[in-house]
Amino acid sequence: MQLQLLNRISSLKQLVDHPQYDIVVIGGGATGLGIAVDAATRGLKVALMEQHDFAKGTSSRSTKLVHGGVRYLAMGDIKLVYDALRERGIVFANAPHVTHTQPFVIPCYSIFSKLKYLIGLKLYDWLAGLRSIGKSTAVTKEEIQQNFPNLKPEGLKGGVRYFDGQFDDARLAINLAQTAATHGATLINYCRVIGLMKSNDEKVSGVCFEDLETGISYEVRAKAVINATGVFVDDVLMMDTGDHRPIVKPSQGTHIVLDHLFLGSNEALMIPKTSDGRVLFGVPWHGHLLIGTTDIPVEHPSLEPNPTDAEVDFILNTAAAYLTKAPKKEDILSVFTGLRPLAAPDDDSDSTKEISRDHKLMTSPSGLITITGGKWTTYRKMAEETVNKALEIAGLPPLACRTKTTKIHGHTKQLHPGHWATYGSDAPRIKLLADGNSAWQEKLHNDFEHIVAEVVWMVRHEMARTVEDVLARRLRILFLNAQASIEMAPKVAETMAVELDKDANWITNQLTQYHEVATTYLIKRPAMQMKDNDTK
Ligand SMILES: Cc1cc2nc3c(=O)[nH]c(=O)nc-3n(C[C@H](O)[C@H](O)[C@H](O)COP(=O)(O)OP(=O)(O)OC[C@H]3O[C@@H](n4cnc5c(N)ncnc54)[C@H](O)[C@@H]3O)c2cc1C
Repeated sequence: MQLQLLNRISSLKQLVDHPQYDIVVIGGGATGLGIAVDAATRGLKVALMEQHDFAKGTSSRSTKLVHGGVRYLAMGDIKLVYDALRERGIVFANAPHVTHTQPFVIPCYSIFSKLKYLIGLKLYDWLAGLRSIGKSTAVTKEEIQQNFPNLKPEGLKGGVRYFDGQFDDARLAINLAQTAATHGATLINYCRVIGLMKSNDEKVSGVCFEDLETGISYEVRAKAVINATGVFVDDVLMMDTGDHRPIVKPSQGTHIVLDHLFLGSNEALMIPKTSDGRVLFGVPWHGHLLIGTTDIPVEHPSLEPNPTDAEVDFILNTAAAYLTKAPKKEDILSVFTGLRPLAAPDDDSDSTKEISRDHKLMTSPSGLITITGGKWTTYRKMAEETVNKALEIAGLPPLACRTKTTKIHGHTKQLHPGHWATYGSDAPRIKLLADGNSAWQEKLHNDFEHIVAEVVWMVRHEMARTVEDVLARRLRILFLNAQASIEMAPKVAETMAVELDKDANWITNQLTQYHEVATTYLIKRPAMQMKDNDTK
């Protein structure tokens, strides 16, 4: 029997039996998980609570780029780009199984713009320094036509090719949780922090959290408490003071996913200026084509934000202007929306496009540390700064950060082919599970290579608790093809029920809940058809 790195029952037992930590982290997205890895690798005793599943929030809904941000370069945010390019190199070195180099092409419609982008991208390469992952070059119209057979050729004057990073955001998050656990951290999902504990001098001394699976509440003490709750940081700040000016202005971004053939290229397309002034990416991802994103201010954050018709129309219309076969609503396999935790500007301006993507680290008079904003790409650097601050607040010695060279769980350069690659060094272990059980060798769906053994693995080693945890954030099928994920759900639920010792009622409830979430990722909602599948 292999050691289970992420086991919810033993995490809860640990929190109850030993409720005294150096650092408690609230929030299990990229930021919180990065902090848990950093603090644990410095030898600190760390606990992390996530109210839903790891990466349920923004961290599973990104454009999947580990990048410096060509757009931020255009905005003159050199420091952000420089930091992000360094971090890109570090993520590539430490997590080669969930990252890879992705060539991008910017199509140009005038010689001037071609020259402008080439100069800009040369600067981008230079900023990456030794961590550069490829040289930007000019490309001819003919070369673009050859590599992008479905790109409209009219007016094209060639373009510029540059290289950036691509990754699987939620899988990296799960691997970060496993890395933190390997180094001794206690992490738990489905536990919501509902209050802050205070000492006599009004300093934060711990948290009160509710186990959402049982409704039971617990208290855990800590020398430092870190609020890493993304767009929800203001809720935790309210627990601290009961009243404060919001520090986050959420902005939503939507992506659509189409059949790979709409672009028909292994290179990604970058449209540098759309009608709303943003960039739009068309990126190959797990054999599909991901297009996005948008930028719309949102009043109230939610864990499952919905795309608007206007966002979907905007993405489709922009894609139609460039592609020979215009994608239609019915071609959309999945649509998903994420919320950027942008720093609230001092004025009441409605635009979010111009707000810096840099992060914000602050300490409240109570000692509560809050970190928000930034990018997935810079999670490690954000964590380093936050843990440095936590050591100071906790009065602990200034232990050195180790994460520049800490290998992320799954790290290997010997990648198994196909979808197995993202499991890295876990791939042979999952295959070994399947070898011992023919039922576990069965495919979950005709259109995907994933097999039942992967679900078993996710329950045993990745703390998957619900059908959504498996299909959305571990297998990623919800984000690739929502209808196919609904069709897979019964087999996933039955497999999980055996592993988690659950009954038929649990399966029924899981399928109902999954159906409710997954239908919001569908543009067409064929309710009758899905009911048939659910009762299979
Ligand atoms: C549309 C879009 C595209 C993006 N694309 C990219 C990209 O390509 N590359 C890139 O580098 N960056 C990208 N980003 C930015 C990146 O995704 C975010 O910066 C990052 O995911 C934020 O992580 P986080 O941990 O701060 O927030 P989250 O991932 O939202 O995590 C916060 C967590 O806190 C939990 N939580 C909240 N309250 C509580 C509580 N009381 N108790 C316990 N837990 C709680 C939530 O459930 C949530 O899981 C993109 C962002 C968006 C919106």
